[in-house]
Amino acid sequence: VEKNPAQPEFHQAVKEVLESLRVVVEANEEAYRKDALLERLVNPERQIIFRVPWVDDKGQVHVNTAYRVQFNSAIGPYKGGLRLHPSVNLGIIKFLGFEQVFKNSLTGLPIGGGKGGSDFDPKGKSDREIMAFCQSFMTELYRHIGADTDVPAGDIGTGAREIGYMYGQYKRIRNVYEGVLTGKGLTYGGSLARTEATGYGLLYMTKEMLKCNGIDIAGKTIAVSGSGNVATYAIQKAQQMGAKVVTCSDSTGWVYDPEGIDLAALKEIKEVKRGRVSDYLNYRPNAEYHSGKGVWSVKVDIALPCATQNELTLSDAEGLVANGVKAVCEGANMPTTLEATEYLQKNGVLFVPGKAANAGGVATSALEMSQNSERLSWSFEEVDSKLQGIMINIFHNLDDAAKRYGMEGNYVAGANIAGFEKVATAMTAQGIV
Ligand code: NDP
Repeated sequence: VEKNPAQPEFHQAVKEVLESLRVVVEANEEAYRKDALLERLVNPERQIIFRVPWVDDKGQVHVNTAYRVQFNSAIGPYKGGLRLHPSVNLGIIKFLGFEQVFKNSLTGLPIGGGKGGSDFDPKGKSDREIMAFCQSFMTELYRHIGADTDVPAGDIGTGAREIGYMYGQYKRIRNVYEGVLTGKGLTYGGSLARTEATGYGLLYMTKEMLKCNGIDIAGKTIAVSGSGNVATYAIQKAQQMGAKVVTCSDSTGWVYDPEGIDLAALKEIKEVKRGRVSDYLNYRPNAEYHSGKGVWSVKVDIALPCATQNELTLSDAEGLVANGVKAVCEGANMPTTLEATEYLQKNGVLFVPGKAANAGGVATSALEMSQNSERLSWSFEEVDSKLQGIMINIFHNLDDAAKRYGMEGNYVAGANIAGFEKVATAMTAQGIV
C-alpha cells in the first residue's frame, strides 16, 4: 500500500488472494520465503505505459494514456484483455492482470496473465475515430506482443470492431499473419463460440455448482447486471436452461421485466443500434426502467453481476439476502466488494468468484490460439463442448482445493488456492526470475 497508494482495486484483489492463501503459505512457509515467491507474485514482470495520440473527425488532436501489464508468464504467454473506458488507470489494469494470473491457471490451459487498455472512451465516437485510436494504440503495442509472447483480447469497450482495427494495424506493421489477438472476426482467424463464451461459461459453472448443492437452475429467477458481451450471453444461456432473467442494466440505469428479458430486443438495442437500455421500453412497454443503480433490489434466487468492478456493495448484499438469494456467481471481474462477499458467505449464500466463473472467455481465447496455431477452425459444437468441460472441471478443482484445506464450500478460497498451486510450482521450478 505504501509503494502504490493510488491503487485501491489492486490492493483489494491482492488482499483477497493472500487471505485465501494463508493456509497454503503456512504449509510451505520456508520455501516460499527463501524464494520471495509472494513478493514476485504480486510484482508484475513488466509494466508498459504509453501515449496514444489520435485525430477526431473535426481535425482535433486527442491524447490518451495506455497500459499493458505483463504480470506473470510462468505457465504460458501473457494473456488478458484490453479495456477501453475512461476509468482505466494503472491500478485498475494491475488488479485485472493479477486476477488474470489465477484465472488463466484455473482453466488448465498454458496461458500466463496480463491485462491492458486505455482511458479512451469509445462511447459516441464514429467508426473512423475508433479506427484512428486503435491504429495509434497498436502502433506502440505491437512491439510488446506476439503469438508466443503476449496475446491480448477484448474487454469492456473492446469488442469485435476494435479487435478488427487493431489486428489490421498489427499485420500491417509486422507483416505476419498470426494469432496475436483473440476475439477476432470469423473471417480472419476468430473462433466460433468465443463471443458467447464468457456468458455461457458462467452459466455452465453456475448450473454445476447449484447441482452439487442439490439445486436445479430450471425455474429459478435471476438478476443480471450489465448489458454488454458477458451479460447478453449469460441471459441467453440462462433462458436456454429454463431460468427467468428479470433484469439488465448499463451505467445510466436498469430494466426490470417481470415477464423475462426479451433478448432479441436487447441485442438489437446494444449490438445494432448501439443504444441504451432505456430504449428497452420501446419494445416492451410493460417493463420498468429506473435510472441509477438497483438491479440487486429485486427479489431473485440467483444474482449474476456482469458489468464492472465493485458494483455489488454491502447494502446490495444485505438486500439480496433479505430477499432470499441462494447464489451469487460473478460474470464480471471483482464486481462484489470484499465486505459484500464476506456478508454473502456468512449468510450461507453460495458464492463463486469471477476468476473462476468468468474463465470461459479466456479459456475459449486459448482455444482460438490453438486453432490459429494449427491453421484450422473447429465447429461451434466442438468449442462449446470443450468450454462446458473446462467450466465443470474448474468448479470441481476449486471445490476439491477448498475441501483439501478444510474450507468446504468456500469457493473464493478454493479458486485462489487451485489457481495459485500451478503457478507457484512453475515459478519455483524456473528459479529466481
Ligand atoms: P462490455 O463493454 O460489453 O459491457 C459492459 C457492461 O457493463 C455495459 O452494460 C456497461 O454499461 C456496464 N458498465 C461498464 N462500466 C460500468 C460502470 N462503471 N458502472 C456501471 N455499469 C458499467 O464489457 P464485457 O461484457 O465484455 O465485460 C463486463 C465485465 O466482464 C468486465 O468486468 C470484464 O472485465 C469482465 N469479463 C469479460 C470477459 C469477456 O470475454 N468479454 C471475460 C472475463 C471477464 P455502459 O454501456 O453504460 O458503459
